[in-house]
Parts: sequence; C-alpha cells; structure tokens
Amino acid sequence: AQELPLPGSTRVFTVANQKGGVGKTTTTVNLAAALARAGAKVLVIDLDPQGNASTAIGVEHRADTASVYDVIINDEPMAAVVQASPEFGTLYCVPATIHLAGAEIELVSLVAREQRLRTALETFLEGSPEPYHYVFIDCPPSLGLLTINAFVAATEVLIPIQCEYYALEGLSQLLSNIQLIERHLNPELTVSTILMTMYDSRTNLANQVVQDVREHFPEQVLDTLIPRSVRISEAPSYGQSVISYDTNSSGSLSYREAAAEIAHRGAPR
Ligand code: ADP
Ligand code: MG
Repeated sequence: AQELPLPGSTRVFTVANQKGGVGKTTTTVNLAAALARAGAKVLVIDLDPQGNASTAIGVEHRADTASVYDVIINDEPMAAVVQASPEFGTLYCVPATIHLAGAEIELVSLVAREQRLRTALETFLEGSPEPYHYVFIDCPPSLGLLTINAFVAATEVLIPIQCEYYALEGLSQLLSNIQLIERHLNPELTVSTILMTMYDSRTNLANQVVQDVREHFPEQVLDTLIPRSVRISEAPSYGQSVISYDTNSSGSLSYREAAAEIAHRGAPR
C-alpha cells in the first residue's frame, strides 16, 4: 500500500451535515480505512445511534455492547469500549449502540454536557502508548447535543456534500452553527475539508453543483470527487470498507485519493 505523510499531532475531524443520506458515514469509514491502509493509526467514533459506522467497520454493537453511550453518559473510559477493526491492524472504533438514541435527552441535565466527548477523547489520546494520527467522529443527521459534543471534541470539520440540486440548502445553517461553536465553545474549530459525494459525471446538474460549491469554498473542496458506485454501497453489508471489499474499484480509488489529499494538505494553519 502507498505510504502517506503522517501528521505530527492527532488530527480530529468531525464529519457533519445535518442532512441524512449525504455520505457522512460512508466517508468516515472509507477515509479512515484508506488512511489506516496507508500506515496511519486511526480511530472512528460512531456518534450516530443508528450505528452504521460500527456495522461498516465490522465491530460488535449489540444493545449490551459497551459503547460511546457509556463514555458520554456514564463516564466509562474510552479505552474500555474501543474495539480493533477486523480489517486493518491500525483501525479502531468506538461503537454506537441503540442506547445512544436516549443520550440526546440525558445529556441535557448533565454537568459540562457539551464537553463530555472532548474530555473523554483527550484522556484516551493521552493514555494511548502509540499515538493516533487521525480521529473521525461520525455524526447523526441533526444539530443536537451529540453533534455539538463532536464539534467541541474536534479541530477540523469535514462536510460531505451530495452532488444534487438541494446540496447547498441547509449549508448556511450548518456553517452558522459551526461559527457559534467556534465563538463560544471551541475556538480551534475550522471547516477544513469539503468532499463532494455520489458524483455522476453524466449529469449536467452534478457538474453545476460541483462548480457552485468550488466557487463558494475554493480552499476547502478536495479535488477528488467520490463517484456514485454500487461497490461503495454494497461494502457495509459485508462489514467492510470499500477499501478492502473491492480495493481496485473506482469507489475505493477515489476514497484513497481523497485520503491522500487530506494527508498531503496537512492540518490547517
Ligand atoms: P449519511 O451517513 O450522511 O446518512 P450514508 O453514508 O449512510 O449517509 O449514505 C447514504 C446511503 O447512500 C447509503 O445507503 C450508502 O451506502 C449510499 N452511498 C453513500 N455514498 C455512496 C456512493 N458514493 N455511491 C453509491 N452509494 C453511496
Ligand atoms: Mg450516517
């Protein structure tokens, strides 16, 4: 596998977009797998009660599995719930279980409710003998307390945008929420990366959307476009990323290219 430059300190990404079905989970899992394959140590934190990232990485996440819920609500150390991926030796996952659905409400009455993931992650990273190079937090499609916890724990936001007509709708709301977080809770937060997903080169519309987004966010948008691909959508049902499910498919290649861009660009500032 192609080796990529490794960051000197851990880069923590929140993968967010309050729209569902735009490719957040797919992007989280496949970028993480691509970076792990290229030699990085990578942690995925599944913060969506649906647990789709846990499924795709192939880790246990039945209702009785220790999970990110126990970390956020019960102060369980992250080290006690993290699982190794069966796919790559340097890929790890903090799974989500269905209990996380209740966390949004339970968090409201807890002390430091916005900082709980950040505190747990900091302690975990400090205690890890081999440093992590990347952390990706997969968010639910909402802007509730779980997503706020993700924004507070991260330094970078990665926004996947689907190449379709309504792509930019809701984006200004997302960006103003991120600005609020930056002002009040996490001054280090930056929208560093935008990735265009489910691209179909045969439609003029997809090309128009890509052009519009590039005009608005010239610095953030990656050159790589993720094509619409059946292999990408099949992989999770085998508990695999597309990177190992079909290494040389166009979907795998595009996520590997996107990962290489992220690695070569390095952390912002
Ligand atoms: P989100 O996490 O934003 O809700 P997902 O990553 O779960 O979105 O993707 C939504 C659906 O689209 C899933 O069924 C997924 O397999 C599929 N999908 C995502 N990216 C692609 C792609 N590039 N090509 C084809 N299907 C895709
Ligand atoms: Mg998802």
